[in-house]
Amino acid sequence: MVLPLFHHHESLHGIWQNRVGIVEGWEPEWWSGAVASVIIVALLLSFLTALTLMKGQLHRTLVHKMLPPKAIQKITRGQTVIEKYNLATVFYADLVGFSGSKNSMTPVQVMNMLNDLYTQLDVIAKRHGVYKVETVGNRYMVVGGAVNPESARVAAKRVALFAIDATNYVDNIFLTTNGDKLYIRSGIASGSVVAGVVGTSSPHYTFFGDTIDYASRLEKTSKKMKIQVSEVTYRLLQDAPAISFELSKTDGVEVKGKGNHVTWWLEKATSCKECQLVKGSFILDPCGHVLCAKCNSTHNLNVCPICRSKVSGRSEWTQDAPTKFLDIDDASFDVMEAGEVDDSTVSEVSKSERGM
Ligand SMILES: [Zn+2]
Ligand SMILES: [Zn+2]
Repeated sequence: MVLPLFHHHESLHGIWQNRVGIVEGWEPEWWSGAVASVIIVALLLSFLTALTLMKGQLHRTLVHKMLPPKAIQKITRGQTVIEKYNLATVFYADLVGFSGSKNSMTPVQVMNMLNDLYTQLDVIAKRHGVYKVETVGNRYMVVGGAVNPESARVAAKRVALFAIDATNYVDNIFLTTNGDKLYIRSGIASGSVVAGVVGTSSPHYTFFGDTIDYASRLEKTSKKMKIQVSEVTYRLLQDAPAISFELSKTDGVEVKGKGNHVTWWLEKATSCKECQLVKGSFILDPCGHVLCAKCNSTHNLNVCPICRSKVSGRSEWTQDAPTKFLDIDDASFDVMEAGEVDDSTVSEVSKSERGM
């Protein structure tokens, strides 16, 4: 239908000019093709944008796992990250008596096993609010009282409770895929540390200072499934709020140029000194920690005051304590353990593995 574009109409008021167009719309042959391609391009763009955003988020999540938020802020502002903490507590652990070749494990299997173990230790570290630093070779390290500064006693308490839980986990629960049991030894020291971000292309947050070296030394001179604790840490633990730690003196540790240092074995933690398995005490389910009647009424929330895990129930111990809990002969335990440990081969194994 062809229409004249202008239509003149004369009236009493002068000349009217009417513009005329196509009323029902005009659709050229290429119209549907154009619509389709606009839709396709739009979809493609939104897909690519989503992909980029996802990649960006993944990257951010990774960076946030590797560096504390405060350090990320400083780096984005172009600042150097160096922080000093006056009284932090440092924990080191290493595998003991583990030989990949002896257990006929390939390096890849060893890596997978360590990954399984350390993923679980990360969960325990998170529960106790300690900062996992890095994993170099077989070694596992956490810090309390740095990154998020807090009272030195609380920080020492967190690290000590983490150490006890981590050791118990390896002792009672963890098995390799071959069904083998693993053993760790660990060391804890408290003092000043310097923290900072090293490297620019692949930056990582790490700690320096004598306290770090000392904690490392206490780990290396510790024993299978034992937690060796420095004198400073020991004192902090004695004053730790709302918890009671049981420690026993070791033979001490030789430190180059500084003679023999007093150190302690961290044995266990209870809510207070009266929290023993006796008539009228309570056992928490499922962690199995024991609270005296008084602690049971104070810690009535569903979090265990010792291991920080969720409490799903508590049952009162109504019998007299079984004799085996009361008369533990320490000497017989020492003999049992001495039979299993061979520390001379152990250190060689760890060394050769680290070089691997
Ligand atoms: Zn108690
Ligand atoms: Zn518990």
